[in-house]
Amino acid sequence: MINAEVYQSLLEELKPFNATLLAVSKTKPVEDILALKSLGQKVFGENYVQELVAKSQEVEEVDWHFIGHLQSNKAKMIVPFVSLIHGVDSIKLLKEINKQAETINRIQPCLIQIFIAREETKFGLSIDEATDFLTGNELAGLSNIRIDGFMGMATNTTDTKQIRREFQSLRSLFELYQSTHNLSVLSMGMSSDYKIALEEGSTMIRIGSAIFGERVYSEKI
Ligand SMILES: *Cc1c(COP(=O)(O)O)cnc(C)c1O
Repeated sequence: MINAEVYQSLLEELKPFNATLLAVSKTKPVEDILALKSLGQKVFGENYVQELVAKSQEVEEVDWHFIGHLQSNKAKMIVPFVSLIHGVDSIKLLKEINKQAETINRIQPCLIQIFIAREETKFGLSIDEATDFLTGNELAGLSNIRIDGFMGMATNTTDTKQIRREFQSLRSLFELYQSTHNLSVLSMGMSSDYKIALEEGSTMIRIGSAIFGERVYSEKI
């Protein structure tokens, strides 16, 4: 069951910020995706490769984003059809995506995931690593990927100042390379912290539970 009211009010809330909504449908049934699609939602995010592949075969005429931790050996399963990969958390993975995209003669849009949280469990490059990569020589050799921007997840805390600081650090990085690298996407903010993310410059919020309800089974499939 989706919450249509919350969905509509989120769309209203986004307008002044000129941001877009990625509907995160992981662990949710295809019926829920179709219900949201019938309200006009065109872009869905998934975290697990098999689940994404299965759903993409059932739901047509929507765009799929991959937002989870992608293992290099599974890149080839999603590169043929995903419109954006948010969680690119290593250069090794980026190279593998490039290789797979090359074999099908495609340019794969990607976001580099940046580690901004205090927790040790979240994936991503540090700001220093991302800076080295963006200013180094390696990027130019990867002609079948396109870096569209950054993705980040804030610490899961009630300390809103902390969350704000983390989003600010990502926004600063984004602004630093926005024009030189032609970046357009700053993916930050989830159900619990999207308001802060919008205030701090997010261009794309990733919303799951607020629209689809709490996830009942484990996220770690
Ligand atoms: C699950 C997930 C979301 C959505 O989280 P909610 O709290 O349900 O809105 C957003 N981003 C990523 C990377 C996720 O894994």
